[in-house]
Amino acid sequence: MINTTAKPVTKIVFNMFLHKNNFIVFIIAVIITSIFACSSPKPNIDPHILLNKRICLDPGHPSELSSGNAPYNGMTENELNWDISLLLRDALHARGATVFMTKSAVDELVSNSNRARCANTNHVDIMIRIHADAGKTKDDNGFTIYYPDQQGTRFRKTGPALDIIQKSKTMALRFHNGMYAVLKPYMTDCGVLGDSTTYYGKIYGALTGSIFSEVPVVLIEMGYLTNEYDLKLLQSHDGRQLMVAALTEGVIQSLLTTHMTNDE
Ligand SMILES: [Zn+2]
Repeated sequence: MINTTAKPVTKIVFNMFLHKNNFIVFIIAVIITSIFACSSPKPNIDPHILLNKRICLDPGHPSELSSGNAPYNGMTENELNWDISLLLRDALHARGATVFMTKSAVDELVSNSNRARCANTNHVDIMIRIHADAGKTKDDNGFTIYYPDQQGTRFRKTGPALDIIQKSKTMALRFHNGMYAVLKPYMTDCGVLGDSTTYYGKIYGALTGSIFSEVPVVLIEMGYLTNEYDLKLLQSHDGRQLMVAALTEGVIQSLLTTHMTNDE
């Protein structure tokens, strides 16, 4: 888990493509990114690789704490989370996984405790919570992965269990390895952080969705909607495909890695 800045040449070229939507620039971007990508593991497209894996996808918002409806260049975080989650659901289905969604419509209000209950009752291998960040300044950028690093208390419930904390940490580190392998030429890596560093984690000890979770849980902040580069990437078709590929690789790494990494 190393905080690095995205490779500037690739990032600049991708930015040019986002700005101009120009075919020639796109071709240049493909050539340059393929040069940088040759040392990265290729996304696994084996249609059986996630067979028998059960996954809960939680498109963040609206909840009892936040609607997620602040506008960013005509798009809300809630809409982005939903769109990416549907693409990710299909990508995981295509690899053989059984996927459960915590909500069935973009504006459906689901409490954070009920999101966890969806994961619990379906006995999933991992709960993946999809979010995007807002920064203190417009320069804050990059993707971050959170996991419960201690127990918290909310609505008289203390959790998650200590073994779930340990499993969530292991899966978060592996999830990060997968996402980083795909995203490193394009986005800043903000690493793996504990729930206790978040706004609500500081108040309750952990995020409510983690406190109620009886399965390993990770929360992905896909980037900063307050940052021009991240927002353009997450609003573009190619940027979304890239993010879904990164999340898919994160799932594969978290569920299928059998060796211990240096971070574990
Ligand atoms: Zn959010």
